[in-house]
Amino acid sequence: TNVYNLKHISKSYNDKTVLDIDNLTIRRGEILGLVGPSGAGKSTLLRILNFIEHTDTGKINFLDKTYTKNKLPDLDIRRKVTTVFQRPYLMTSSVYQNIIYPLKIRNQSYDHEVDEIIEKLGLTQLKHKRADKLSGGEAQRVALARALVFKPEVILLDEPTSNLDPANVKIIEDMIEDYRTKLNATIVIVTHNVFQAKRLATKVSLLYKGKLIEVNDKKDFFINP
Ligand code: ADP
Ligand code: ADP
Repeated sequence: TNVYNLKHISKSYNDKTVLDIDNLTIRRGEILGLVGPSGAGKSTLLRILNFIEHTDTGKINFLDKTYTKNKLPDLDIRRKVTTVFQRPYLMTSSVYQNIIYPLKIRNQSYDHEVDEIIEKLGLTQLKHKRADKLSGGEAQRVALARALVFKPEVILLDEPTSNLDPANVKIIEDMIEDYRTKLNATIVIVTHNVFQAKRLATKVSLLYKGKLIEVNDKKDFFINP
């Protein structure tokens, strides 16, 4: 089943086209690895997939409904998607309060799974620390925890391991893979690291100057498969 289908979408900033995609389909249970040089439009595409940014032209089919810049999804639909930003926006409250915030606003209860996620991400000792006092890598882990706790259908990850040491990279990659497997969730991961794309992605797309090049067979993408 398709989760997203984007048709002829474009986005310009100050008359400069930064994104121009004819067709992009993202299926349920897929991990789409999005690679490409800096400035290619990867973050812009993630913002569009999260309906934070709106396209100038084109249509986005999301969970069987079609949206355009004049017809945006309601909040309850937008909340099925979450983005883990490279430099996450955290509230000045504690790590724990940040992590449970998405559950609170959705009136979802929280249980042992929240603590399991906190534990797995090595955040137990930091639970009561103010989230604005964290290092970049700690903040990324908190942002991932905050995304995983409410079980979104779609998680968009923008360079989620860029500030992490190898041990934490492994933990996060395993958690992303587990999450996808258990919930048949849909994941898009922007990464500069082609090895990470190779490890995690079920499909890889290259974004170059706003244009998408889909790599049919992941193996074709890597010189040294
Ligand atoms: P990537 O994530 O691949 O590095 P981005 O999506 O961040 O690329 O940016 C694509 C292009 O759009 C870049 O040229 C960038 O400078 C420009 N851009 C991104 N956001 C804005 C904005 N809010 N206003 C103006 N230009 C922007
Ligand atoms: P504060 O900013 O007030 O220090 P905390 O994040 O420490 O906030 O805790 C907020 C509330 O959540 C407190 O009542 C605390 O006891 C409770 N709490 C903290 N961790 C857990 C947990 N794992 N399970 C349930 N409640 C918790």
